Amino acid sequence: VSELRVDGDRLWRSLMEMAQIGATPDGGCRRLALTDEDKQGLELFRTWAIEAGCRITQDAVGNLFAERPGSGTRRPAVLIGSHLDTQPSGGKFDGAYGTLAALEILRTLNDHELETVAPVVAVSWANEEGARFPLPCTGSAVFAGTLSLEEALAQRATDGPRFGEELRRLDMAGPEPPGERRVAAYLEAHIEQGPVLESTRNTIGVVTGGQGLRGLAIRLTGSEAHAGTTPMEHRRDALVGAARIVTAVNSLPARHPEALATVSRIEVEPGSRSVIPGRARLLVDLRHPETEGLDRLEARVRRLAAELAAGARLEVEVERFLAMEPVVFDDGCVAALRDAAERLGEPSLELRSGAGHDAVYVARAIPAAMLFIPCRNGVSHSPEEHAEPEHVRAGCDVLLHAVLERAGVSPRPRPAPSAA
Ligand SMILES: [Zn+2]
Repeated sequence: VSELRVDGDRLWRSLMEMAQIGATPDGGCRRLALTDEDKQGLELFRTWAIEAGCRITQDAVGNLFAERPGSGTRRPAVLIGSHLDTQPSGGKFDGAYGTLAALEILRTLNDHELETVAPVVAVSWANEEGARFPLPCTGSAVFAGTLSLEEALAQRATDGPRFGEELRRLDMAGPEPPGERRVAAYLEAHIEQGPVLESTRNTIGVVTGGQGLRGLAIRLTGSEAHAGTTPMEHRRDALVGAARIVTAVNSLPARHPEALATVSRIEVEPGSRSVIPGRARLLVDLRHPETEGLDRLEARVRRLAAELAAGARLEVEVERFLAMEPVVFDDGCVAALRDAAERLGEPSLELRSGAGHDAVYVARAIPAAMLFIPCRNGVSHSPEEHAEPEHVRAGCDVLLHAVLERAGVSPRPRPAPSAA
């Protein structure tokens, strides 16, 4: 069993075939959630999973599960997968890699007539990207119970229809109540979407958790006045206050290691060439791996905003409109990935996920972890997105061995399914 390896060429061919669905002329992919292209991608995955002898089920939010049974009939499953939807101008690897790596693992187990004790289930989660529909990781959030099915189905696409309507139109949902499936562990492979692995020459990122997020809205009020007649010392310029806050927020991480702080949006009114801006609204995005760190950052931003607003003679209101607590992945799942990388001789590095992922949501309900492979220049959500074939294979091999460790290997062989 320790010699077992996936078929890296087959995985690469599957990725390239999937990439033809919604292919864009610049080499990217466009499979927005619950569009005809998304449906086609899911159907291709379903066809391949059926050929691999899997039992297919779909839940009411549009997650698709392909199950390879284990010898232990009552054992909860080991779940592996990711998503097949993309950003409007996405690449070939974000999401598709983890989903097809899961399929490749099932194919490899078939090739070697290996029976696991726990069932191994490959999953494709619905609407991970949150591009066409606003709630990211819709499928995994409903599965984990952090989002209600009703809210998920009611969300509206940027082009009009509701999530539930599109699920029905495309026949992409099933009868299974989300989250009912018994799962012992969830493991996900994904491209890093950042530059750390590439620059440190590591093949595998063992992800130990996801950082938390706070979204703050800062509203500044001064007074509108004529830009040609109001002396400088009489002004209450909201944009000047906003500018000071932007630079102060940007310099926060220098004194708070591990923090990331961004002013992502600024609206200024009235926005007329000859008028001193009377109102400004800023959106601040704060990230930190620990809740206490987020609390400190938020308190610091509130203090800075008050001080800087007072200095510019402005009124200020700060509102928290978004909060996501940090997630720490399960020790056992993280160890399974780390040990597998070590046994296979793949250089690995522990890191935290900066972006949101299905695993970050699933981890709120069941033991979970994920691994990253490098992507060229750290680029994703772009047609430029690229992963090297040897990294694609290595990540899948590590995932395979972590799955075997979590699922257990049964002593007797199992014949490959005749359909394969
Ligand atoms: Zn993704």
